[in-house]
Formats: sequence, C-alpha cells, structure tokens
Amino acid sequence: MDSIARAKDVTQHHIAPVASKNDRERRFNTEAVRALGEAGLLGLLVPSALGGLGQGPRAFADVVATIAEADPSVAMVYVMHVCGTACIVNAPQTDVTRAALADIVAGKHLTTLAFSEAGSRSHFWAPLSRAKKTPNGVLLDAVKSWVTSATHADSYVVSALSPDGKGPTDSTLYLLGKGVAGVSVAGTFEGLGLTANDSAPMKLDGVAISENARLTPDATGFKAMLEVVLPLFNLGALALALGICRATVAATASHLRTAKFEHLGASLGEALPNLRAQLAQMQNDTDGLAARLDDVVKHLETPGDLTMLRVLQAKAVAGDVAIKVTSDAMRTCGGAAFSKHTSIERYFRDAHAGAVMAPTVDVLKEFIGKALLGIPLF
Ligand SMILES: Cc1cc2nc3c(=O)[nH]c(=O)nc-3n(C[C@H](O)[C@H](O)[C@H](O)COP(=O)(O)OP(=O)(O)OC[C@H]3O[C@@H](n4cnc5c(N)ncnc54)[C@H](O)[C@@H]3O)c2cc1C
Repeated sequence: MDSIARAKDVTQHHIAPVASKNDRERRFNTEAVRALGEAGLLGLLVPSALGGLGQGPRAFADVVATIAEADPSVAMVYVMHVCGTACIVNAPQTDVTRAALADIVAGKHLTTLAFSEAGSRSHFWAPLSRAKKTPNGVLLDAVKSWVTSATHADSYVVSALSPDGKGPTDSTLYLLGKGVAGVSVAGTFEGLGLTANDSAPMKLDGVAISENARLTPDATGFKAMLEVVLPLFNLGALALALGICRATVAATASHLRTAKFEHLGASLGEALPNLRAQLAQMQNDTDGLAARLDDVVKHLETPGDLTMLRVLQAKAVAGDVAIKVTSDAMRTCGGAAFSKHTSIERYFRDAHAGAVMAPTVDVLKEFIGKALLGIPLF
C-alpha cells in the first residue's frame, strides 16, 4: 500500500469517525497516532537507509491534506511530528538521536517542536532562554508558551540561545525526552480551534541536556529552523489548509443538495443562485490552493531562486484562503453551519488557528514584502 492509501485507511478508521467528538471534548486522538505509527507514517520522510518510508514533500503534503479533510487537529500533530523528526534526521547521529529515530520508524515515538516562548511570542526564531554550559552538556531553564501534543509527545525539539551566542538568533536545538527531570507541561489548551491537538505551555526547570542530545552545532539552530523546519512546516500548513477547504466545500455542497425549502419544493442549491455562486467561488479558491501546493512541492523537489519566496507565500496564502473559504461556507449554510448541524464551524475555527501559528500570516507577508524589495528579512 502506498503512503496515501495508508493515510486514507487510518483516516477512515481512526480519525473521521471521532473528529467531531474529539473537538467537542478537546480530546487528543491517541488511537490515530498509534495507527499512523503502525502504518509506518510516523517515519514517512525518514530515509529508507534509516528504516523510514523515504518519501518526499509530495507524499507529505498528500498525507497531511488527507488527514486534515477529516480532522485538522490530528493533521497539525502530524505536521509538528514530521518537522521535529526532520531535525533529528539532520542532526549528528548519536545514541540519543539513533534511539529516537529507531522508535519513530517503528511507529512508537511522537515528537514535536517546542520553539515559541512567552517573551518573544510569535518570533520563534528569537528564544529568550539561554542554555548554560556544564561539563557534560548544558543546563536549561525555559518557558515554552505553546507546544502541540504537549502531554502526549515522547520527545520535544527545543530551542534556546547558545551558551556563548551573541545575537538574538544564535540558538541551538536540543532533543528532550518526555521523562527527563525538570520537563513538565504547565497548563491545558483552551484554544478556539485545533481543540484536539493538546497545545499546552511547558516548563523546563534546570533540565540537564547531554551533549549527545544537541541537534545542531551551537548558534546554528536558526539555520535549521529556516532550512529544515520552515519549508516543511509551511508546506504542511498549506496542505492542512487545502484539506480544510476541500472538506468545507464538500460539506457545503452536501448541505445545499439536501436542505430543502419545502414550501418551494426545492433544495437550497436549486432555489438560490447566490448560494451556487458562493459555492463556485469556494471551489475556485480551493483549486487555487491546490495549484499552489503543486508548485511549492515542485520547488522543494528541485530548488531554484524563487523557492524561499514560494515557501513564505505557501503559509501566508493558505491562512488567508482557509479563513475565506470557511467564512464563505458559514454564510452560505446559514444557521445550519452556525449551530453545528454540519462540521463547517469546526473547520472555520481550525482555519483561524492555522493563521496565527508562527510564522503568522502577518509576519510572512512582512517577509515577502521585504524579499520583494531586497530588504534583509532579519
Ligand atoms: C493551536 C496552536 C498550536 C501551536 N503549537 C505550537 C508548537 O507546537 N510549537 C511552538 O513552538 N509554537 C506553537 N504555537 C505558537 C505559535 O507558533 C505562535 O507562537 C503563537 O500563536 C503566537 O501568538 P502570540 O499571541 O504570542 O502572537 P504575537 O507575537 O503577540 O502576535 C500578535 C499579532 O502581531 C502580529 N505580528 C507579530 N510580529 C509581526 C511582524 N513582525 N510584522 C507584522 N505583524 C506581526 C502577529 O501576526 C499577530 O497577528 C501554537 C499556536 C497555536 C494557536
């Protein structure tokens, strides 16, 4: 079975049937993560030489969009895992990284990114916490403001300023295991959207990190964020938005076909041309997102001069389009959408969460504008 067929199978059996319930109860879907692991999908991008499926950006985008059509919360858990795993794959191979990768390809290990800090907010590239050198590695105190999968992840890819770093982006990335002394989840998730992805704050209190758990050379964490994480995260966010839009168009079409004006003897879609036009616009916007996704995948497969610009645009456009399509659907389906008779209001809330996740849509537009004018981004 190829990776898309595997994703469809997991989605059909373990994600779609419980998505609405998990959203209502803010319940993290542990069964879905287990099933993704059993299907080999936690090791999707891990090279086959290391036991993974050895797939690339196309498969990643397709798997994320497939999951997001049913449940964007699970899709975001998956995106964070794949980004964290890429950091581990790109790190020097030590006993710590080898053990994590062995568990990831065996489908038994979920990882995530713990970058954002309360003090630097959405500017995740500028951690305020600073690692202090010890004879065997470093000691770290930090407050991470949002960590997807916080209580369910087996490890965290954590950023901090390097012990001798001079500037605000001179960071280093480390891999922390769940059981490490001093690592704790410091709250619960009360967000409007992506309610089932357990994005909670975390506290690192005098955490001793061994040299073997360092994922990047000192002061090059920022480089890994830009070169390893950003392309995957932005592609994942675009694929997630595409899944949201596809599901929203399908739910809207279904409502327009089945809800009736009985006094007119017609469905909403048959009776009202303005609703048909709104549905058409939603489909047009969704197809535009799909075309952009194809373009970004091609750029990542064969990088060129415009690749970084396309990566920045990917998430900026995804956030805006997902909010527009889901807002249009809320209006098109009226009270039925507003009152949870469809899943549209869930997708509407989830679309808003995607847009405020860093790099936020506003920050990306700021970067794109600077790039177009030849102004340095940082
Ligand atoms: C559901 C969810 C899951 C998350 N999961 C993770 C995770 O797993 N790991 C992680 O590290 N973080 C995670 N985050 C945190 C996220 O990436 C952001 O750091 C966080 O949403 C920023 O919120 P804030 O209130 O601090 O934004 P602020 O930084 O206060 O921004 C406020 C507003 O200012 C705008 N703004 C900020 N800077 C600029 C600029 N330079 N130019 C223009 N506009 C600007 C922003 O776009 C925003 O509209 C998650 C967030 C959410 C909502």
